[in-house]
Amino acid sequence: MDILKSKRLDHLKYEIRGPVYDKALALQNQGYKITSLNIGNPAAFGFETPDEIVHDIIVNIRNAQGYVDSRGLFAARKAVMQYYQNLGVKNILIEDIYIGNGVSELISLVMTALLNTDDEVLIPSPDYPLWTTVAGLAGGIAVHYNCDEAHDWAPDLVDMEAKITSKTRAIVLINPNNPTGAVYSKETVKQVVALAAKHQLVLFADEIYDKILYDGTSHHTAAGLSDDILIITMGGLSKNYRAAGFRGGWMILTGAKHKAKSYIEGLNFLFSTRLCANVITQYGIQTALGGYQSINDLVAKEGRLNRQMNLAYERINAIDGVSAVKPKGALYLFPKIDLTKFNFEDDNHFVMSLLEEQKILVVGGQGFNFKGKDHFRIVFLPHVEQLGVALDKIALHFENYRK
Ligand code: PLP
Repeated sequence: MDILKSKRLDHLKYEIRGPVYDKALALQNQGYKITSLNIGNPAAFGFETPDEIVHDIIVNIRNAQGYVDSRGLFAARKAVMQYYQNLGVKNILIEDIYIGNGVSELISLVMTALLNTDDEVLIPSPDYPLWTTVAGLAGGIAVHYNCDEAHDWAPDLVDMEAKITSKTRAIVLINPNNPTGAVYSKETVKQVVALAAKHQLVLFADEIYDKILYDGTSHHTAAGLSDDILIITMGGLSKNYRAAGFRGGWMILTGAKHKAKSYIEGLNFLFSTRLCANVITQYGIQTALGGYQSINDLVAKEGRLNRQMNLAYERINAIDGVSAVKPKGALYLFPKIDLTKFNFEDDNHFVMSLLEEQKILVVGGQGFNFKGKDHFRIVFLPHVEQLGVALDKIALHFENYRK
């Protein structure tokens, strides 16, 4: 008899590493070289973690042999505290800072500690799909609010408010956004905070790309924007510091902590059950946040990331029938395919055929809980030469399927 998986997993998916990814691995095992434009993994494309972070991790390895406080090493938490203080966030205490094994683990812990069966969480569509998966795993229901392509993928606040019910517990805001590349104005962030305050919801602000900003775009952190609600803001080493494999992330609690005593007790309990985040990575956090911010050179006008972003944006938009909003931040483009012009049934058909025929791996829009079946996400991490070749093949693929 087959050993059955938990029913909780029945309707959950994570397509960034789903069936198309499995097919890519199978092709690789047959000897094909696949260009992976499916995952925001900077190191895989020669974006090195800054030397000073690696150095501090190496010299501290002997100090990292034991468990530490469940919320993390004091020096790492202090550095996170100072980072947000320097952004103008007031009244932060060291107890408000938690270190995790990447933002992924923090997402899991904050949702599990909050949700009762059938509690609802407002999550953007399209989203970084882990948020939706974890809401389901924690017994809750992900309710998706629309982000509007016609308005640079800004959250549709009317839709967001219309979807709030007596079961809603929290709003998730991903800013800068994966997969759309949107970065929200101060006004938009404030409006979302005001909506959360009106309905007394927790705000989860996933700001893991807060330093990956193009063309003079400013980022406005949600932390500290309201004293009336609890705001949990998250960041990490994976993207800004190109250290995704080190698994280092942090979160900060601000605002109405006095209204969230039971929830914070629950968070502390869950954090303690996993003892602590991996200690060696925590030795890199102070250096990362306090050291030279080489990410600024990469996103600057002539910087490597900026050039790659522009190349991807221009080449994708040059294909008749394909269009993408210009990213203001993060590592992705989320183009729309005009399906009336091509012989693709939907995004999944496009993605699978691109993999099979051109050996390029991207992710279909439906993988980001997007209800349209005509989008896909492309990662612009490869060097311009390799990216150019991949974009040529993508353009060729569209021509091959043009009606
Ligand atoms: N949040 C967003 C929006 C992401 O894009 C990612 C990774 O791609 C994560 C969280 C997870 O990051 P980490 O490596 O810190 O677990």
